[in-house]
Amino acid sequence: GALADRLTAGLAQRRQNKLYRQRLTLQSAQGPVVRVGNKEYLNFCSNDYLGLAAHPQVVAAFQRAANCYGVGSGASHLVCGHSAMHQQLEEALAEFTGRPRALLFSSGYMANIGILASLLQRGDHVFEDRLNHASLLDGGLHSGARFRRFGHGDVAGLERKLGAADGVKLVVVDGVFSMDGDTAPLPELAASCARHDAWLMVDDAHGFGVMGSRGAGSTEVAGLGVSEVPVLMATLGKALGTGGAFVAGSELLVESLIQQARTYIYTTALPPALAAASLESLRLLREECWRRDHLANLIQRFRRAAEQLGLPLMPSSSAIQPLLVGDPGKALALSEQLKRGGFLIGAIRPPTVSSGTSRLRITLSAGHSEAQLDRLLEQLDSCWPRA
Ligand SMILES: *Cc1c(COP(=O)(O)O)cnc(C)c1O
Repeated sequence: GALADRLTAGLAQRRQNKLYRQRLTLQSAQGPVVRVGNKEYLNFCSNDYLGLAAHPQVVAAFQRAANCYGVGSGASHLVCGHSAMHQQLEEALAEFTGRPRALLFSSGYMANIGILASLLQRGDHVFEDRLNHASLLDGGLHSGARFRRFGHGDVAGLERKLGAADGVKLVVVDGVFSMDGDTAPLPELAASCARHDAWLMVDDAHGFGVMGSRGAGSTEVAGLGVSEVPVLMATLGKALGTGGAFVAGSELLVESLIQQARTYIYTTALPPALAAASLESLRLLREECWRRDHLANLIQRFRRAAEQLGLPLMPSSSAIQPLLVGDPGKALALSEQLKRGGFLIGAIRPPTVSSGTSRLRITLSAGHSEAQLDRLLEQLDSCWPRA
């Protein structure tokens, strides 16, 4: 039939262009060392930046809550799925981010779709950095507002676009860009938004828990509160090592989302035990500053050594340290070669990144030791093609 033919041709095309994607099946917990098949690998591709995904205390909190609350939440938050664990986590996240309220979503993808669709209407303007996460781009397009992209980090370009628009304006950026690892110029963006009566929304999936001396993320580093960043969103599946997401902001924002966000209203609440595990992770990340310090030390060590080895670093000071390759076939071949050497590092290719910018996306975690990082550097040195 017509559809099957199209799908078959689509898969063949992807294979031919070296863009075919395949999953690994892990036989162990997430961590610096993971098992795939019968082999162990050093894992340099997860977003478990603080090494909390399998932390015994986080696991124990999950188990205790499961004993108490069961596994399934049973319903959406507005029906009868909102438990004391969800409530406590929302309160803790609001307090930690210095916002009046926080609201949980089942995933970051759903949070972004729901937030953008609730805040925006036809005739409004939404401005997004060209390198924003897919969920933000999809959410902006889906919202019905007039959708404008601006150049990556180009505040002057954004300023011109804001000046030419009237009515409701929302500017949306990643705090830390997920495939590049660099950070948005938040103070300048906030100033530009203030001049043009626009709201600023920051998706801090990769900054929350990691950036800032308290770990409160990119907005902590920039010193921006709820009046400068009215919509702060972050995920729990990365530095917190659990799952789900939240948005933090004013009473007005959160109550509006509870009433209107379809991806909040028409979906089953997260398992309460996951909320309990997130609370424990949040407690650990607040108390154990050494995780952030150790990660910062690994990032520095990696960049210094990679520079000496002449590896194509990108301008990133975050835990995301991509090495630019360019061609998708070459990126894939390098990733496969590293895998044979015992290292897991994903080849990121179009359409996730733009054509000609395929890369190896190396992510560092507080779970890694210096010795493990040094083994990675040795391996990169021995397999990297040089002119
Ligand atoms: C991972 C990610 C999301 C999606 O979060 P999930 O909870 O995994 O759905 C959204 N935005 C950014 C920037 C991300 O990196």
